[in-house]
Amino acid sequence: MSGSRDAIIVGSGLNGLACAAALAQAGRKVLVLERRHVLGGRAAVEEFHPGFRCAPALDVHAYAEQPVLVPVPDGRWMMVHGESDRAADIATFLPKDGARYREVMPVLRRIAGAIAPVLALTPPDIDHPAAGELWGLLKVGRGIKKLGQKDMYRLLRWGPMAVADLVAEWFEFEPLRAAMAAPGIHATALGPWSAGSALTLLLHHAGGKAPTGTADALVESLKKAGGEVRTGVEVASVLVKDGRVSGVALTSGEEISAPVVVSAADPKRTLLRLLAPAYLAPDFLRKVRNFRCNGTVAKLLLALDALPDIPTCDSRGRPARIHIGPEIDYLERAFDASKYGEFSAQPYLDVSFPSLHEPSWAPQGKHVMSVHVQYAPYRLRNGDWNSRREEPPSERGVLIRYLLETCGNGGNAAWSAAPAERRNRRRRAPRPSWTSARGSRP
Ligand SMILES: Cc1cc2nc3c(=O)[nH]c(=O)nc-3n(C[C@H](O)[C@H](O)[C@H](O)COP(=O)(O)OP(=O)(O)OC[C@H]3O[C@@H](n4cnc5c(N)ncnc54)[C@H](O)[C@@H]3O)c2cc1C
Repeated sequence: MSGSRDAIIVGSGLNGLACAAALAQAGRKVLVLERRHVLGGRAAVEEFHPGFRCAPALDVHAYAEQPVLVPVPDGRWMMVHGESDRAADIATFLPKDGARYREVMPVLRRIAGAIAPVLALTPPDIDHPAAGELWGLLKVGRGIKKLGQKDMYRLLRWGPMAVADLVAEWFEFEPLRAAMAAPGIHATALGPWSAGSALTLLLHHAGGKAPTGTADALVESLKKAGGEVRTGVEVASVLVKDGRVSGVALTSGEEISAPVVVSAADPKRTLLRLLAPAYLAPDFLRKVRNFRCNGTVAKLLLALDALPDIPTCDSRGRPARIHIGPEIDYLERAFDASKYGEFSAQPYLDVSFPSLHEPSWAPQGKHVMSVHVQYAPYRLRNGDWNSRREEPPSERGVLIRYLLETCGNGGNAAWSAAPAERRNRRRRAPRPSWTSARGSRP
């Protein structure tokens, strides 16, 4: 067994690195083991095409704070600014909705602000909450009470609702309803008609973001405090001796001893694969097996020669995201497919241009386009992503063509993945790189 440490951390995602840095700063001898060759887990900034980089699983800017460009089926675009005093674009489509937007946004922000501290709380033990946990909850409760009776009732009523019902109370214009409902389903295994999706919407408006340099800063702080990091090493199992953790075994056969092993891999991998079932109580094991944590998102990264010929920023120059999902029913149908283990034939897409925030991620004048594709269940009912990738499924064709057409000017196809259409594209049209479409799934 190789040299002992005080603690071994499995995985170098943000959580693993934060834990390792804190332990190292407290004077512990720490070793981080990462199976990949880059540090940062899903937050790692990686080159996906020569000269083009991106952090595929991390938004560069807080999701709910960015302006959103909404393509409208008649070929026009509507900019939803995310600010209550900027509803002119919406009012052009339906004056009534513009006025409602001005009313609703401040309420939404107020309520989201009151529940925001929940995001920083360690989830309490429901059966036996500790005093500190109760104190934390009490503080959140006080913030909510300060909202006043009207907003408190709103919160109680909105939280359990389906986001489709909530936006229907606010707006009439269907593309606006769908765009406003999107944060309720973003990165979840929920559809707009799922109960509780309205709470997800509120939490999105409450949440911040991890800045893109977080992983690098954590690695630097870990190393400064004397922590060690090894990449390209996969932990095969956690070793147990006399009922106590004694270290880890790597897939290479090497064993490393430590009295403490912190796994920053996901709970199912940690408890069902790294640890032998004999060490866990049957009831606990059953709960872990039934824990639903299936991913529903795929990321498509494209290296662009130029930005597409559409408004990519709002009138104040703030980079916008593009929402693709014109109706609530469209979003629900996209979700339906994933319930039955299939990817959506017509998915909900959230398109952004991270290089507008981080110009160093693309060569000068060029851009990175990041497409959040939902729903793409991690586990497919028929086959898996590798075997299905080799089929020429019409569904995949629909996905890519839909994305490209919607990014064209006025809804027309400016360019496409299909070779015949690509020949016709205008010279300023973006050039896709498919490499990451094949390899970006976690
Ligand atoms: C598609 C997607 C989009 C997201 N978008 C955002 C966003 O916009 N903003 C945001 O804040 N969060 C986002 N998240 C969530 C974000 O990725 C996580 O909050 C955060 O990065 C998770 O960090 P982590 O340390 O828990 O896990 P991870 O980043 O997953 O790190 C786990 C690490 O463990 C390693 N590992 C696993 N098993 C082993 C093993 N056996 N041996 C050695 N190493 C191992 C993995 O290689 C990985 O590096 C997104 C997640 C996904 C999947």
